[in-house]
Amino acid sequence: MKNIYSNIYSFNKKLLKKTVESLKQGKIAGLPTETVYGLAGNAYSNKAVKNIFEIKKRPKKNPLIIHYLDLKYVKQDVVLNDSFFKLYKAFCPGPLTFVLKKNKKTKIVPLATSNLKTVAIRFPNHKIIQSILKFTNFPLAMPSANLSSKLSPVNAYDVFDDFKKKLRIIINGGNSKFGIESTVIDLTTEPKILRPGVISSEEIKSILKKNLSKKKSNIKSPGMMKKHYSPGIPLILGSKPKNRDHAYIVFGKKYKKNLNYFNLSKKGDLKEAAANLYKTLRKIKKSGYKKIFVAKIPNFGAGIAINDRLKRASK
Ligand code: AMP
Ligand code: MG
Repeated sequence: MKNIYSNIYSFNKKLLKKTVESLKQGKIAGLPTETVYGLAGNAYSNKAVKNIFEIKKRPKKNPLIIHYLDLKYVKQDVVLNDSFFKLYKAFCPGPLTFVLKKNKKTKIVPLATSNLKTVAIRFPNHKIIQSILKFTNFPLAMPSANLSSKLSPVNAYDVFDDFKKKLRIIINGGNSKFGIESTVIDLTTEPKILRPGVISSEEIKSILKKNLSKKKSNIKSPGMMKKHYSPGIPLILGSKPKNRDHAYIVFGKKYKKNLNYFNLSKKGDLKEAAANLYKTLRKIKKSGYKKIFVAKIPNFGAGIAINDRLKRASK
């Protein structure tokens, strides 16, 4: 039988070479990270970045996060500051994205940052992408590997679902550890969270030793769009399902087993729940349910990120 997943590869030395060559030619690839799977291309290449926006059908005004191995190329692209170094030391590599001022000497193509004067940067903590970045002499522009406004992918088959054979290479790196997009923090003025993630504002506060700004940010952010992370069927927050055609997303041990109940974490662990969120939404959609209802989920730690995504998914 023909293998329909012939563009999904396991990682090895040969594939590493093939992927690096392909990225050097301005092509794009679906890569695993610890947050969600990404659609990666050379951030210094107009062709690659244009390609990313086109295949994702992403509005040109939504800038891309630029991914680095370490500080080597970062300094020429952005202006670093004290808060950055503190947080870098505490959390990087990891699921934290920094918005910083663009350096005049940057080689990042303007389209990647939607012509803004800021750049969002991240240092992914995943062996596969780190080994690729060791062999590219450029950082990777990389949004999540899904069609714009749809659910983020947490394994190679989710990436395939949206793009089929439009990608030459999708690397199978198993399930993403965190399963939810990075925390985004603006460091261009008073530190402010633009998008919640598994690294919580409490953890960030404890490193910076100061409160985070609550002021409305004038930074434009795609993750801030009201409608995003759409499961493709109606999602209703805070109420119970009316019948068996409706799925019910729950959290914690007080919920008994039920055919249409989907527990994000039976033991009541918010990080585990975050890791199960997109996986569960995809499963419910594929099982043919017509609507999704969601029970209340605690709003602290990773729960803040879960509630943020659910709220957008409900629009
Ligand atoms: P994603 O949709 O996962 O690619 O995430 C993009 C996120 O990064 C958005 O939510 C923005 O907050 C942020 N972002 C990316 N690039 C920039 C930029 N140049 N300036 C400000 N925020 C940015
Ligand atoms: Mg995305």
